[in-house]
Amino acid sequence: MNIILKPGREKSLLRRHPWVFSGAVAQVNGDPQSGQTVDVRAADGQWLARAAYSPTSQIRARVWTFDPDEAVDADFFRRRIDSALAARASLGLDSVTDAMRLIHAESDRIPGLVVDRYGDVLVVQVLTAGCEFWRETLADLLLEASGATAIYERSDADVRELEGLLPRTGLLRGANLESRITISEYGLKFLVDIERGHKTGFYLDQRANRNRVGQLAAGRDVLNCFCYTGGFSIHAARGGAKSVVSVDTSADALAIGQENAALNGIQPEGVSTGSTTSLEWLEADVFTGLRKFRDQNCSWDLIVLDPPKFAPTAAQAEKAARGYKDINRLAFKLLRPGGILVTFSCSGGIDAALFQKIVASAALDAGVEAQIVETLTQGPDHPVSIHFPEGAYLKGLVCVKG
Ligand code: SAH
Repeated sequence: MNIILKPGREKSLLRRHPWVFSGAVAQVNGDPQSGQTVDVRAADGQWLARAAYSPTSQIRARVWTFDPDEAVDADFFRRRIDSALAARASLGLDSVTDAMRLIHAESDRIPGLVVDRYGDVLVVQVLTAGCEFWRETLADLLLEASGATAIYERSDADVRELEGLLPRTGLLRGANLESRITISEYGLKFLVDIERGHKTGFYLDQRANRNRVGQLAAGRDVLNCFCYTGGFSIHAARGGAKSVVSVDTSADALAIGQENAALNGIQPEGVSTGSTTSLEWLEADVFTGLRKFRDQNCSWDLIVLDPPKFAPTAAQAEKAARGYKDINRLAFKLLRPGGILVTFSCSGGIDAALFQKIVASAALDAGVEAQIVETLTQGPDHPVSIHFPEGAYLKGLVCVKG
């Protein structure tokens, strides 16, 4: 079975970018079914790649291999998984955490497969037709290679719909397990709800940035916007913040945030413990919450903005840019002079240069001077294939207000 491309449309594959868009396909031969392996050939017949066919997606095929001698079978996936796990083992993260991303999809050359390890448990997302086709094989291989005791599936991301796949969640391997797992990160403990939490349960990509905020927080009044289960808040409290206000719309996330605080010996205001940080958890929309704070003349020494993806693709970039500018402008206003803004975008549709421009125009509108003292990105367990720049999605700036 094969796909023949239109003339000139082989260029991205020759640069080893792994996607074949539907508009590049001239002909499909042999009636491949969803997820089956096809050869991809240029208009002149030149063999280019072996790929997973996805009949409903705009991304009509995703490359498994650019090597004509490499078959796509269980051994193929064993090699890919082994090499991803070996790369993770070399990062030295084991001394810092027992939770990390083991497989980062295209960037680990397994398009559509995300695997996060939380202690002894793996949580997987099967996001493409190709991975769906090989799902059972992948589950067996992952269990064997990682030594995990169980695999839980969280294939409930919206992108599955584009691949013609229904959402699916549940235990994939191993015995019944608790839905909540306690992980450690830089000596702190966090509860992860692998069944009901966002994505696979925790935002592992922000690990090092949470630690960095902890280092910046001493003696400061901190506002953590889009706090989820309090990752930045708990790190800030441990780092000696005077106070931390955490804002999110999700009551479930905030409830876990409070449990996380207790788990680390950080208690709410009024309770006498070893910790002197006062903590407040607010169930609110950040866009309106920041305006309320402004109207009440509140101010902070350190503000974290870690919003959800406003622009999954470049098409939504303009509307997303307005959202980012709005919250950054308000945050600059709420900061005291010398205060620190730690601001992120995880939108694939907004690159680092554009994000910096948005933050600059937010500062301009707020009428403040600011310096960028640091740029931040996703952790090393979320690598970026050199041939797949789309893999670099998390951008962060640490700005000091003049
Ligand atoms: N910083 C967190 C991850 C943040 S994820 C960490 O390190 O773990 C983004 C969060 O924004 C989610 O918890 C989501 O519930 C929340 N959210 C989305 N839209 C929001 C809004 N308009 N106002 C407040 N919170 C929002």
